[in-house]
Amino acid sequence: MGRRYYCEFCDRAFLDNLNARKKHVVSSTHQQLRKAYYDKFKTKQQKLNDELAKPRICKYYQNSGNCQFGSSCRYRHISDVEIERIKKEINEESKKDEMSNRTVKNWLSLNKQKQISKEKLEKTGGAAVSERKIPDIPQTSTVLPDSLKQLPFLPLSMQPPPEDGWPRLNEVEWG
Ligand SMILES: [Zn+2]
Ligand SMILES: [Zn+2]
Repeated sequence: MGRRYYCEFCDRAFLDNLNARKKHVVSSTHQQLRKAYYDKFKTKQQKLNDELAKPRICKYYQNSGNCQFGSSCRYRHISDVEIERIKKEINEESKKDEMSNRTVKNWLSLNKQKQISKEKLEKTGGAAVSERKIPDIPQTSTVLPDSLKQLPFLPLSMQPPPEDGWPRLNEVEWG
């Protein structure tokens, strides 16, 4: 009895010789399991791109919800409705990421960057560093968090400003 070869993708062992290995590596079971393993590391966007690259929805899958080719099928195993749903999910997740980046720490580090760039600008006499290259500090969001929207009366200091800013008061001399 010779050595045995163990395939981790398939969780299967078989006699280790060149022929058996070659046969195993090209078998559809192995290819499917191998692909499924690597797909686990793909992001939602990558998976969606994979699906969108396929020409159309798989007829077998559409009719019976089943297809013998599984994840290695060259047609889509996902409906247009699902594609729209995933697109929406990706959109919402990226929005969430953006929101979670709006921390005081990030704001401070951006602020510092701006300060350093300004100092450089002053040192070089404004020649080398262009002011335009300095990233702008993102505008503070004036959108109320959902938890506050439900409160009927918010103190003035917590209300978001009107979209076009507060009206300018006429300067009146006091005295
Ligand atoms: Zn295998
Ligand atoms: Zn299919």
